Amino acid sequence: MAKLNSYRSSGRARKGAVTSFGSRTDVGCVREQNEDSLVVQPPLFVVADGMGGHAAGEVASEICVKTISECAPDRVDAEELGEAVEQANRDIINAALEGEGREGMGTTCTAAMLEANRLVIAQVGDSRAYLLHGGKLTQLTRDHSLMANMIEAGQITPEEARLHPSRSVITRALGNDPTMTPDLYEINVEDGDRLLLCSDGLTAMVEDSQIESIMNRVADPQRCATHLVNEAIAAGGLDNVTVIVADAEGARTVKRRRTALRTRVTIVFVLLLLVAIIAGAAWGGYTYLHNTAYLAKNDAGMVAVYRGVPGDVLGFTYSELVENTDVPVADLSPSAAMRISEGMRVSSVDEAMALVDSYREELAQAKASSSSTASTSGSSAASGGASSEGAVATR
Ligand code: MG
Repeated sequence: MAKLNSYRSSGRARKGAVTSFGSRTDVGCVREQNEDSLVVQPPLFVVADGMGGHAAGEVASEICVKTISECAPDRVDAEELGEAVEQANRDIINAALEGEGREGMGTTCTAAMLEANRLVIAQVGDSRAYLLHGGKLTQLTRDHSLMANMIEAGQITPEEARLHPSRSVITRALGNDPTMTPDLYEINVEDGDRLLLCSDGLTAMVEDSQIESIMNRVADPQRCATHLVNEAIAAGGLDNVTVIVADAEGARTVKRRRTALRTRVTIVFVLLLLVAIIAGAAWGGYTYLHNTAYLAKNDAGMVAVYRGVPGDVLGFTYSELVENTDVPVADLSPSAAMRISEGMRVSSVDEAMALVDSYREELAQAKASSSSTASTSGSSAASGGASSEGAVATR
């Protein structure tokens, strides 16, 4: 059963921290409880492997990560990180004295802070920190364990230590000595370097060469952490296993990422601007075409009112018949007839209809005037005839 910590297990660091990371912890195949704990609060990363039995190890490791997450400095600082680990040691001792957990409970602790190209580590016990640099995996920390002492004394080889019956004996831990101090490391890392923190549940089950291969092969840090844990379980999972993988991303990577982000933002802005311009132009064109109008001569020789423009615009036609009027084009003045025959543009349909009304009135007046003239001529002719006739008669 997997025990997922209450902290973030993967993602990208906040507030200027520039680290991609992933983590996983698992109870393994043999143990009933997972006594490992971890913190993933970039730039802070901690692995703690509790011991003490009857769940006391879990209490110790949880106090450890809780205290360190509360007391760790905001900036990458080895001395202050070491002081946080020492405070965790005192908290575990005090908790045992107050009846929390069990007397004698303890935990390992590998605490690291990684930001840009700076890495600091505070180390107690046999949980480890490794660095993958240039494809090569190097153990950064020295185990506080009987096996490490025997290997350094030339009494056994690392391979023999892996199977040694005393392989779990550690020589320094949190929880029993109030004067305990951690080993401190300060390391410069480079872009592309990869940090690994792990409990011995990984290193006891998986050889370093295999860990190196997975660290090189699996690019995503969360998938890499999961892969490493799965490998330990596949090898037997005799212990709880916890892994944190964090990628160092220095100034060059940050600058490259920021440049890429700025480029993406600029592209999106330009695209949005283009869309806005095109939409504005389309709306303006539509509004103009929808509101403008023209007069033309229809097949019956009458004035017709259209919405839109005569002919086409950029290959598209926009013309809608509003009304076929009863105004004959041929009866209008020659200049008006010619303009209408060619398509007379006006600013609106209302203006077009008003123009048609004025033509209608002009034609009506002309007709009335013509009728009046004809009537007057007829009357004059009749009157003249009578007079003439009268005159003739008078004569
Ligand atoms: Mg362990």
